Amino acid sequence: MKYYLILLLLCFSALFGQPPIEKVSVKLQWADQFQFAGYYVAKEKGFYQDAGLDVTLQKFDPKKLAVDEVMAGRSTYGIGRSSLLVDRMDGKDVVALAAIFQSSPFVLLSAKSSDIQTPRDLIGKRIMMTQDFQDTISIRAMLNSQDIRLDQIKFLEHSYNPIDIANGKTDVMACYISNEPFVLKEKGIETNSISPEAYGFDFYSDILFTSESEVHNHPKRVRAFVDATLKGWEYAFEHIEETSRLIKERYNGQNKSLESLIYEGQVLKELAYRGNKPLGSVSVDKFRRISDIYAVMGIHQNEKRLEGFVYDDNSRQTVSLSADEHSFLHMNTIRYTATSMWPPFNFYSEGNSARLQGVAVDFWKLIVERTGMKSTFVASPTWAGIMDAIKSKAVDVTLGTSLSKEKETYALFSKPYASFPNVIVTNKTIDFLPGLEALSGKRVAMCEGYSVTEAVASKYPNITVVGVEDTREGLKLLSSGRVDAVIDILPVVAYLMNADHHLDLKISGTTEFVFDVRMMIRNDYPELKAIIDKAIDSITPAERQRILNRYIAITYEDRVDYGWIYAVILVALFIISIFMYRQFEMGKYHKRLLKMATTDPLTGLVNRIRLDEKLLECHQFYQRTGRTFSVIIIDLDYFKRVNDTFGHLIGDKTLVSLSQLVSDNIRTIDTLGRWGGEEFMIICPETDSDGGKQLAEKIQSVIEQYDFPHIHTLTCSFGVSESREGDRIENVVGRADSALYRAKEEGRNRICLS
Ligand code: GH3
Ligand code: MG
Ligand code: MG
Repeated sequence: MKYYLILLLLCFSALFGQPPIEKVSVKLQWADQFQFAGYYVAKEKGFYQDAGLDVTLQKFDPKKLAVDEVMAGRSTYGIGRSSLLVDRMDGKDVVALAAIFQSSPFVLLSAKSSDIQTPRDLIGKRIMMTQDFQDTISIRAMLNSQDIRLDQIKFLEHSYNPIDIANGKTDVMACYISNEPFVLKEKGIETNSISPEAYGFDFYSDILFTSESEVHNHPKRVRAFVDATLKGWEYAFEHIEETSRLIKERYNGQNKSLESLIYEGQVLKELAYRGNKPLGSVSVDKFRRISDIYAVMGIHQNEKRLEGFVYDDNSRQTVSLSADEHSFLHMNTIRYTATSMWPPFNFYSEGNSARLQGVAVDFWKLIVERTGMKSTFVASPTWAGIMDAIKSKAVDVTLGTSLSKEKETYALFSKPYASFPNVIVTNKTIDFLPGLEALSGKRVAMCEGYSVTEAVASKYPNITVVGVEDTREGLKLLSSGRVDAVIDILPVVAYLMNADHHLDLKISGTTEFVFDVRMMIRNDYPELKAIIDKAIDSITPAERQRILNRYIAITYEDRVDYGWIYAVILVALFIISIFMYRQFEMGKYHKRLLKMATTDPLTGLVNRIRLDEKLLECHQFYQRTGRTFSVIIIDLDYFKRVNDTFGHLIGDKTLVSLSQLVSDNIRTIDTLGRWGGEEFMIICPETDSDGGKQLAEKIQSVIEQYDFPHIHTLTCSFGVSESREGDRIENVVGRADSALYRAKEEGRNRICLS
């Protein structure tokens, strides 16, 4: 008997010890090559299996686009380009999970012998490039920004045969820097390439993506898949040769040589780690920049659709709980309650009286997911019922209320998870109200039992408070003229005014009373309070905003008859679009594109691309006229400590303050730009190194005296150089750089000349 028991236990542990294997698939977007090494490795090395996944790698098929396959559910995951953004704008709910290549390998390749080095050299040449507008947008944007019109180039159909640039069939070919140059080199043909990235059009490539429904319904699986894939990529890049052998043996549909796979792996590794970002990083900011470029190129963009496009790691952010808290959650299923009467916090979705939704419900879901707690819903028809249930411990928590002394006698409260101002609603005819004083002698409807009702009554005795059961009733009274105003929090009044068509009412002012929304917890569950508080702490501002937007932003738009407004807008859009198209054709966008390409997004200063151009201008001017220019490189001292002590965001803010400070202290003919991470460059035309030194001294003392927000003090080191006879362009920068190095060596916060 005893043995049977042990046997049974063993069987159970075998069953439950291993997570069940889930079947998923990923659609590749090209023929087998190193471009998909991470996926092959994750599969072959068992990383997927360890993560509980059985992954099918679906072969490339030009007729089956990854986006379509994923949206139709025939593939779980897909690999796409930055043009995924356009699919997103078109209403496809794709989510970018990881960008394998931080910069795109897509370039314009030509034979070295044809001496095509810059976009301007392309004028009058033939280019083989697909006509797919989205896929080639980085190249088109680069041409446009350089003021090159498409009719100045002859586009040919793509043969995908790199030899064609050697045998004269074309001058230039759009291709992958990781492939074609190697093929040609093996045949003894050297190449030049022009990369849109070098001109400021820096796009992601090979973006791992999935559908919103996958992210929503299988958050753990998504996390596991992404992690295992990145582990595969890490391994592939660490072991390029081994991985190339694996591809050659098992995944070599294209029959590539080992050497070409190794070459491809090396080039792609560099692109994957470009910018020192963690492998696979995707950022909304970078996509916003890409989206701006699309917009300028005339592809419709919608800021709202960007939201939710980049995967953000809910499940990675687990909350770290103590052993006691873990065992508390293990032992208890948490019963939560809410009425369905408090839109937009908790209410039934339209036409579905079984599905409670709202701001409070979504915050709760996030907390449940983060902590891994088990929870079950108990419906409560009234607020009074909720208070009784908390007192009698028939439920454990309710989702949204305010703190009050009275309630604190029988319940615990979480930290606030959101805060809103109480606002004043009046008839449309009333002007702006600066505050509650303006309501003296007036009748104001407010909910009975709300703490703000008591607070207003006691602080403003001249206001006649008319108690109502809920704000919906208050708004009705206001509409019919029986009260002069209604007070409640912004989301509630905005939602109700809209839902009940109170077009006669408006929000006329705010009050000093802020409502902190908290969870109320039965008073013998301090563990639950601590767990909920930790989870609330882990919610990021972006996540909070997303939940609020879901319910609050839309309420302003619904249900108003916009018919004629739409008609007007449509006509206007039509006219504008014809106009824009003509402008586009005329190449007039290039200024905006150029600005976008040469601006550093953080500081708004010019970026390295523009600095390089400026250096070249000054250098050429010096060669022609002998007029000296000088260069100052500024590097912040011990900036890593700022990041470590105050965090990256404060670090970024410091860079912004510093760039403002420096730009306020230079002449208009000087060019200040961001040279690199925390290095800045000033190019001073018509200035020798003495002049450069004086400017550096002035800036040094301004920085020393400046009180930087948060960090207070900061110093910089400066390297100064001037142009010299016989210089090549890189020499003057090289000397400034070595002077800077000396300034650091000699103790920082100083200026060195070279
Ligand atoms: P020192 O120059 O005095 O030798 O010391 P340092 O600590 O400044 O060292 P270094 O110049 O080598 O390090 C640069 C640091 O600047 C590394 C990186 O964390 C930080 N950094 C670079 N770019 C950015 C950025 O865009 N934002 C933030 N917050 N930090 C950056
Ligand atoms: Mg530095
Ligand atoms: Mg530094």
